[in-house]
Amino acid sequence: MRVVLNESTKTIHKPARSNGQSTACGALRHVSPARIRETTRTGPDAATDDDTYCGRCFDAVSGY
Ligand SMILES: [Zn+2]
Repeated sequence: MRVVLNESTKTIHKPARSNGQSTACGALRHVSPARIRETTRTGPDAATDDDTYCGRCFDAVSGY
């Protein structure tokens, strides 16, 4: 699936439907576009230590 990666914090967000540079939760509104990269991930189940999935974008990983 398509995701949006904040390269400075290694946090993965869901892309907003209308604009690939922003996220569904709006967390990256104040982050420089130079630090935001569109990429692909299998999903939260495939998260590695380097990847933090945004709890607001991915309800599946917000179980705490
Ligand atoms: Zn998010």
